[in-house]
Amino acid sequence: MKNNAIKILVNGGFMNNNSNIIDGHVHTKLCNHAVGEMNEYAVCALNKGLKEIIFLEHFEVGIKYFEVTWLTENDFKAYFYMGQELQKKYQGKLIIGLGVEVGYNPRRISETKDFLAKRQWDRIGLSYHYYEYEGQHINMLSRKPQNIAKFSEIGVGKVISAYFAGLLAGIRQLPITVVCHLDAVLRHHPDVYFNKGHELQILEIMSEMAERGIALEVNTAGYVSRHEPYPSLRIIKQAQKMGIKLVAGSDAHRPQDVGRNFDRLVFMDSLR
Ligand SMILES: [Zn+2]
Ligand SMILES: [Zn+2]
Repeated sequence: MKNNAIKILVNGGFMNNNSNIIDGHVHTKLCNHAVGEMNEYAVCALNKGLKEIIFLEHFEVGIKYFEVTWLTENDFKAYFYMGQELQKKYQGKLIIGLGVEVGYNPRRISETKDFLAKRQWDRIGLSYHYYEYEGQHINMLSRKPQNIAKFSEIGVGKVISAYFAGLLAGIRQLPITVVCHLDAVLRHHPDVYFNKGHELQILEIMSEMAERGIALEVNTAGYVSRHEPYPSLRIIKQAQKMGIKLVAGSDAHRPQDVGRNFDRLVFMDSLR
């Protein structure tokens, strides 16, 4: 076994072959920055031999940004309608979950809670994408040069501290089940760097998760940009020591990316 082997605990069991694998983070074209119908994602999952996919579509509220990268209430209606049709269509072949990647906005906690309470979700993932600055928002996970430039102006360290503080607050305030791409903040910024204070914030977040039974996502989109998942292997190992459940997600924004790089995670037969 390699040194950096990761055990991925999925729904209480370890993955040991493809037939057990769940991709717990998949988008659809409804969020405006992904492509592909929900059915196309299901077809790809079947072709790759996955057991289950969980759609985890973007919810944001109160965000002032130049483009809309999330679903409207009507989109969520369509999402559930189509998702439930697919659940029937693939019954016995592929399990299809309907979840939400909820974006943290400290100003809109009660609306976020109300939205989440309206439906039965198979997974509620927490993300923190949008940083508020001078009455507008800037995407902390974006590769767009105008976003990167703004963050240089504000100060990279300051933004990263605010990101981790926001995640911790979100964990405490929202009924979430998973934390998505924990360390992906400013992932495209050339000066991204975690100092001692940030490392302590990560530990504090993970203690809170352990206490609340919230899982940590191992997001394999990380392999595309940095040869490591989000979060890093070092953080994942720490999470395991703390008894935090790990779940895998591709963050696919194209059908062919379902289950991407899952072969780079080392799956173990069982917990002994
Ligand atoms: Zn997205
Ligand atoms: Zn996502």
